[in-house]
Amino acid sequence: MAQTYLTGACLCKNIAYRITLPTPGTLPKVILCHCTNCKRYTGSGFSANIVVPQSSFEYTKGSPKLYSDRGDRGGVVVVREFCPDCGTPFTSRSGDDGEEVAVKSGTLDDEHRVKCAELGMEIYYHRKDGWVDGMGDESVKRVNGSMDG
Ligand SMILES: [Zn+2]
Ligand SMILES: [Zn+2]
Repeated sequence: MAQTYLTGACLCKNIAYRITLPTPGTLPKVILCHCTNCKRYTGSGFSANIVVPQSSFEYTKGSPKLYSDRGDRGGVVVVREFCPDCGTPFTSRSGDDGEEVAVKSGTLDDEHRVKCAELGMEIYYHRKDGWVDGMGDESVKRVNGSMDG
């Protein structure tokens, strides 16, 4: 059966959401953002997002807190939604354009996240951290599990 929706939640599970896919069976591709604000916001090297129509996204449990920041170029305000209890970032969207929302793909529930397996685009590529290239490097030690094994 064609996939018609995706669900996700934050780490503490106080907030959950559902995305109704605009085209059933067509899963969104992942878009990486290497901008400096996404690095800080995620505490990582980049953010991983799926972009969906705002109208397809709804919270099914709890409500997030909003944070407005400036885009990398200083102009457009980006509105970010996150869980006030555990800090998980959910979405970011341009203050100018309420049509689409970028949902952090790491917040999708496991069975839905694994289906969004295709990388579509990388933006703010000139801000990419050097270590990111090491992710495909065979010489890097790989462990299935934590650092202690
Ligand atoms: Zn939470
Ligand atoms: Zn970004």
